Amino acid sequence: MQISKHKVVTIDYTLTDDDGSVIDSSEGAEPLAYIQGSGQIIRGLESALEGRGAGESLNVKIAPEEAYGTRDESLVRDVPRKLFDAAEINPGMQFFTQSEQGRQVFTVVDVSDSSVRLDGNHPLAGVNLNFAVTVVGVRDATAEELDHGHVHGPGGHHH
Ligand code: ZN
Repeated sequence: MQISKHKVVTIDYTLTDDDGSVIDSSEGAEPLAYIQGSGQIIRGLESALEGRGAGESLNVKIAPEEAYGTRDESLVRDVPRKLFDAAEINPGMQFFTQSEQGRQVFTVVDVSDSSVRLDGNHPLAGVNLNFAVTVVGVRDATAEELDHGHVHGPGGHHH
């Protein structure tokens, strides 16, 4: 069976950046199960997997445009330190805001006595994603899974 729209696909994967640092991996965990064509995984990976079958392994490099987007330097801003309640603010800390545009993550990149520099870019914006993927299984989605918009059973929802 080949991967096409509305197939439930199970994959093992390791994601690295261009320096070879591992960003994410299914190793030591359950394989990832998703519904092809539903936007549950990044677009570039979904299109690379289209037409593949169980047992196939592939290496895919996905440009930021097909993953988490390019960096937008206008999302880097300095805000007054006094706006933060936190006693300690350190680079690497993340703050979340919720608006009509959805949830946005700000990462602290620099701190001085009077101001905090925040970066609103996704931490993986501007990063090439290198996936080493093995297709573990491909099957038809059930009507219930398509209705719920997620996979049931191993690698998916249990309810
Ligand atoms: Zn469900």
